[in-house]
Amino acid sequence: METSATEILGLNIQELTDLIGQLGEPAYRAQQLFHAIYRQRISSLDELTTFPKSLRAAMTEQGITLSAPKIDKKFISTDGTIRYLIAFPDGQSVETVWMPEGDGGEAGDGTDAGDEEAGGPGEVGAPSVAQPQVGSQNKNVAQQQVGNEKRKTWSRATICVSSQVGCAVNCKFCMTALLGLKRNLTAGEIVGQIAAILNDHNVDLEKERINIVFMGQGEPFNNYDAFIKAVRLLVDGVGFPQSRMTVSTSGIVPRIYDLGQEPVRPKLAISLNASNDEERTKLIPINKKWDIASLVDAARAFPLRNRERLTFEYVLLDNENDSPDNAREVVQIIRALGDKADSAKVNLIAWNSGPEIPFSTPSDSRVHAFQKILMDAGVPAFIRRPRGRDIYAACGQLKRTESVTRSLL
Ligand code: SF4
Repeated sequence: METSATEILGLNIQELTDLIGQLGEPAYRAQQLFHAIYRQRISSLDELTTFPKSLRAAMTEQGITLSAPKIDKKFISTDGTIRYLIAFPDGQSVETVWMPEGDGGEAGDGTDAGDEEAGGPGEVGAPSVAQPQVGSQNKNVAQQQVGNEKRKTWSRATICVSSQVGCAVNCKFCMTALLGLKRNLTAGEIVGQIAAILNDHNVDLEKERINIVFMGQGEPFNNYDAFIKAVRLLVDGVGFPQSRMTVSTSGIVPRIYDLGQEPVRPKLAISLNASNDEERTKLIPINKKWDIASLVDAARAFPLRNRERLTFEYVLLDNENDSPDNAREVVQIIRALGDKADSAKVNLIAWNSGPEIPFSTPSDSRVHAFQKILMDAGVPAFIRRPRGRDIYAACGQLKRTESVTRSLL
């Protein structure tokens, strides 16, 4: 075989079988390799103990590598959320967020977590902007949450994953947009991010309930092939049920149709964020290309599984898109879904502030008034609990901010 470098993190069973065949090894070795990379979550060829040393040496000689992404830094919130900076061999990095107990809006676990939160303790309290905290409370949480975790303080958790380094969509309320798009992640880098976080928490997926949300840096549907390959590897290899994953799109309409045709796929969340085209085009410029009517058409055509919900995300910006009229327009959008309206729900997110972003967080009363209009009209609406605002880990805040709090690494 050729001696050019071959990265095996991200290869599926067929590709590994081909590779093993080229090495002159029997096919069962490909199964062992697949199991070791994804189920055991090894991070280097040295950990491949089911292979004889001589075979590992031959692989290295042939330029076969396993380059798992590394945790570069981690920032711990007072609420237990951890923002990770994950570094890749080429020097690029992304952020991945660990949210113990979820944020009430992921709806990726088959039980509709958002429902559990409505009116409950997870409902948004005072959505004021938390200040960076490096005090003793922070440290205590850190001691409970990181390292080898002698004592796990969570019963379930959600991992928010990035799909690109930066993002080209340019939503006006999002700090990631300020990075621009640096590059797409490979399927291996997407899976590797998740494996690094699972390993950091010694997660046993057979016993512990972890949700995945593709809502970190980047627009997953602008990196569709790598995203969907990663999903298949997470299901077939790592061992995540597809019902515990949710992907959020800013509205790349053709890919919504594509996702609907996938035999294995996450649940769908659409970031609506505005109630009419004029406002949406201002906030999310791609609305010029795919307007609200085309989004509604795609959502209406999206085939849902038994008991599956279709989520619309709505970031509330003070005095921008959060008026009672806006809420009434959202009701009309949901009603335009026809049969699908009964399966739809709206997650409301009071905007999480960031430097250089010219919006404000609405008051509790405005957020609740907006929610009430939707609920009174029969549209299920849930207020997502902000997680990790103090460490810039919350929705729309992922921009490699390092100045806010000390890192633990
Ligand atoms: S909200 Fe999502 S799609 Fe929009 S700029 Fe930020 S990362 Fe990109």
